[in-house]
Amino acid sequence: MGMFADRMSSVQVSATLKVAAEAERLRRAGHSVVDFSAGEPDFPTPEHVKEAAKAAIDANFTRYTAAAGIPELREAICGRYKRDYGVDVTAAEVLLTFGGKQALFNTALALFNPGDEVITHAPYWPTIPEQVKLVGAVPVIVQTSSEDGFAVSAEAILGKITPKTKAILLNTPSNPTGALIEESVVAAIADEAAKRGIWTIVDLCYEQLIYETVPHNVPKALFDRNRARTVLCGSASKSYAMTGWRAGWTIAPKELTSVFNIIQGQTTSNINSITQKALLAAVSGSQDAVTAMLDEYRGRRDNIHAWLTAHPGIKCVKPKGAFYLFPDISGLLAPGTTSTDFAQALLEKEHVVVTPGEAFDAPGYLRISYATSMEQLREGATRILRFAESLQHATAR
Ligand code: PMP
Repeated sequence: MGMFADRMSSVQVSATLKVAAEAERLRRAGHSVVDFSAGEPDFPTPEHVKEAAKAAIDANFTRYTAAAGIPELREAICGRYKRDYGVDVTAAEVLLTFGGKQALFNTALALFNPGDEVITHAPYWPTIPEQVKLVGAVPVIVQTSSEDGFAVSAEAILGKITPKTKAILLNTPSNPTGALIEESVVAAIADEAAKRGIWTIVDLCYEQLIYETVPHNVPKALFDRNRARTVLCGSASKSYAMTGWRAGWTIAPKELTSVFNIIQGQTTSNINSITQKALLAAVSGSQDAVTAMLDEYRGRRDNIHAWLTAHPGIKCVKPKGAFYLFPDISGLLAPGTTSTDFAQALLEKEHVVVTPGEAFDAPGYLRISYATSMEQLREGATRILRFAESLQHATAR
């Protein structure tokens, strides 16, 4: 008998940890490290959100709340989805979670049986398939490629449906590619899912970080077609620069929300009461801070994209959302070497931290987070280009 539960045997540790440990070692050794690995905003949480949290402490709002969250916050989330997407959601369909991570995990626990198949798309955020595996279900992966802008097609997703398919799990905007799934694709997927009794789940973690004014009403596309089997997983982490507060939510049919309530009631209970007051201010207050951060990210995206693609060996789709660049660097790899080798050498020689594509099931790519200052982006780009040049000279020799 193994020491730990069997279910743990197939779950991977985060591939970014190794790079992070090496970066920390270099930092401690006194090197100036440029870190492009961050999966979180570099901005502080907006002032009015922090004030609401301080007021909550001073008012002794420090006790248990309902496991699903305080009613006024659940109402405020309904209000936001009405405002942003024109969809009608009731408070009984909303439940507050410890970030988008728990929103997704509650969903996996509540819906997936061992052996169930869950279709999703790569390059992916690794937590998505790992959570599916944690509950004994099987992730079924549709690959997308940079040649077509990492577009997810309805045919590719629907082509993977088998009698075992329980759910289709989408992430838009995507971490790591920044790609958006077209509204029409979401609609076609939802139409077929509704016919076959398949759940549609969408990770909307980056929903407020979209740079282009393209139609992207994913909640409505799903609700109009598959309302009885749709779960929206939201998060305050990226939109409101609140990663440490742990605030996310699910919007799901009320019967499923009741199941989430049971799971949460027997595990974590309510999310932090102070976080709830802070999130209430974030969701119902002025959204100016969100727009200001988005504008700043857009400028950074434009610059880092232009700087890096000036090199002929670096091909990169311009991301439409989130805050990551996902360049194809396969043209720079010496025969027999991988993007992990590239990232490792870049770290050792130039002290720049990037996440290799292998972490996202996409060898040959790198993920560069631009949730960092313009100066760091400029400096990091200079170092990456210098490193790329040195590689080409080495190959030419
Ligand atoms: N979904 C995606 C695609 C993410 O990148 C992240 C964070 N890296 C999350 C969900 C969850 O974040 P949190 O738990 O902080 O809300």
